Amino acid sequence: MSATNITPHKTLSRFAKETLLGQKGTVLWMCGLSGSGKSTIAGAIEQVLHDKGRFTIRLDGDNLRTGLNSNLGFSDDERLENIRRTAELAKVLAENGVIAICSLITPRGELRDLARGILGTDFNEIYVKASYATCEARDPKGLYKKVAEGKVPSFTGRDSAFEEPQDPALTIDTEKLSVEDAAFELLEFLRGKGIAL
Ligand code: ADP
Repeated sequence: MSATNITPHKTLSRFAKETLLGQKGTVLWMCGLSGSGKSTIAGAIEQVLHDKGRFTIRLDGDNLRTGLNSNLGFSDDERLENIRRTAELAKVLAENGVIAICSLITPRGELRDLARGILGTDFNEIYVKASYATCEARDPKGLYKKVAEGKVPSFTGRDSAFEEPQDPALTIDTEKLSVEDAAFELLEFLRGKGIAL
């Protein structure tokens, strides 16, 4: 149930925060199958930006599920709430001049639309692309092995759908690009938007 009688307070402007940080806030929203490379590439671009003196904060789906989103599972409603909370948090960060790097599977168009609706022009949909077979072969967390043994319910790409993004701002095909090249592509993308030097 939503609260009533709420009067939001004015905070220091985005411009003030961006001027202090010497950068523009934005959100890189990296979606894709588990094991496609979202977190790996998020880590790489964060390091590149950090080395260039840019202030970033990473919001990683797995990490958030140990804290802010620890009470959420993988039902459709819970996936929606997982995205809603993360997008609202990313919004606070971007509005305070931070480059937020979000890595969450975000498997359905409806979920990405929810994040887009919350973040508006700060939402940059980055599709980190790799086939199920490739992710299964990489299996960085041993999840695909468990899936094959029938131990993971509602696994994305198998019994829970992954809808490919139709018009992402950027697609990073990790079957073709190295981690370093992917980070470079992202940097170029941010440069194109006037975000990073
Ligand atoms: P996700 O966050 O999408 O679940 P991870 O980043 O945790 O995926 O895991 C991706 C795995 O794939 C890592 O073990 C990484 O080393 C490996 N990998 C192999 N090639 C690439 C690539 N080109 N880009 C990103 N990750 C890659």
